[in-house]
Amino acid sequence: MNRIVAKTVACWLGCALVAAAMLAAGPAAAQETMTEEMARRAKLLETLPKDAAKRHFGTVKAALPGPPRTIGSYAKGCMAGARALATDGPAWQVMRLSRNRNWGHPDLIALIERLAKAAPKEASWRGLLVGDISQPRGGPMLTGHASHQIGLDADIWLTPMPTRKLSGSERETMTATNIVAADWMDINPQHWTKAHVALIRLAAEQPAVARIFVNPAIKKALCRDAGTDRAWLSKVRPIWGHNYHFHIRITCPAGDEACQDQTPPPGGDGCGQEVAEWIERQHKAYFSPRPPVTEPERPPKAMPLSAMPDACQKIVLAR
Ligand SMILES: [Zn+2]
Repeated sequence: MNRIVAKTVACWLGCALVAAAMLAAGPAAAQETMTEEMARRAKLLETLPKDAAKRHFGTVKAALPGPPRTIGSYAKGCMAGARALATDGPAWQVMRLSRNRNWGHPDLIALIERLAKAAPKEASWRGLLVGDISQPRGGPMLTGHASHQIGLDADIWLTPMPTRKLSGSERETMTATNIVAADWMDINPQHWTKAHVALIRLAAEQPAVARIFVNPAIKKALCRDAGTDRAWLSKVRPIWGHNYHFHIRITCPAGDEACQDQTPPPGGDGCGQEVAEWIERQHKAYFSPRPPVTEPERPPKAMPLSAMPDACQKIVLAR
C-alpha cells in the first residue's frame, strides 16, 4: 500500500478529499518513472529533519548481513538479513531498479521465485514484473508506501512480463496497464483476462500468504469470475489504488518473535455487500470530491528514528 492508501483507510470521512488529491497527483507512486520519483526524493531530502527515520532507512544501500530478523509491523518496522531478488529470473524481471527496493525476507523472495516459475503453467501468465518489495533494511521509505517495511510485502504488476529482456531504461519508464474502468465501478474488459484471475488465485493459495490487496473493482471481478471454489477469495482484500499492481503480504516467519502479524482476514469470500460498499465509496470519492482545502505550506513531518523499535535503530545505523 502507499501512503495515500493508508491515510485514506484511516479516514473514511476525508476519503473524497484524499481521492481528489490522488487524482491531482497523477498515477500512483508505484507507477512513477525514475525521473519523477528521484525529483520527489531529492525535494524531500532537502527539507526532511536530519533525525527522520525515513532519511536513515531510505538512504542505506545494503542489507545488514546475518540471519534474517523481522522486527515490528508491516507499517512500522525493519529487517536484518534481507535477501535481494535477482533482477532477472527464469520467469520474472524486477522493475524500477533505481529504487533499490528488491529486498525482502528470504521466505518472501523464495515465494516470489516459486510463484513466477509456476505462473506460466498454472495461470497462463508469462512471468512476473516485480515492483517494490522493501529497502535493504526495510523501514519507512522516502517516497510511496506506508507498509513494505519488514520485507514481507511485494507488489506484482498486473501486466505480464514481455517475452524479451527489458533494458534498464525501459524498467524505469515503462508503465503498467490500468486494469480498472474509467468510472472505477468495475474492471476494464479490454484489459482484464482469465489469466489475471488465475494469477491472483495462485498467489492467494500460497500457504504463507496472509493477504492480497487489490482495487475494489478487481475484487468485484474476482468475485464474479471465481466459480464455485471460493475459499481463496477471503485473503483478497479490497483497498484504494492497486489498479496497476497487486500486493502480496506474507505472514511473519515462524520463530520471528519480534515480528507482529496482522489479525487474519474475516472468513467468507468478502463478496456481496462488502465489495458493493467499497465500489460505491470509491466511485463517490472520485466523482463527488469536496472542494479543495488550501493549507499553508509546512515542512514535512516525519517520524524520528528514536520512535522506531530499538532493534531497528541499531539495524539501520550498523555499518
Ligand atoms: Zn504494495
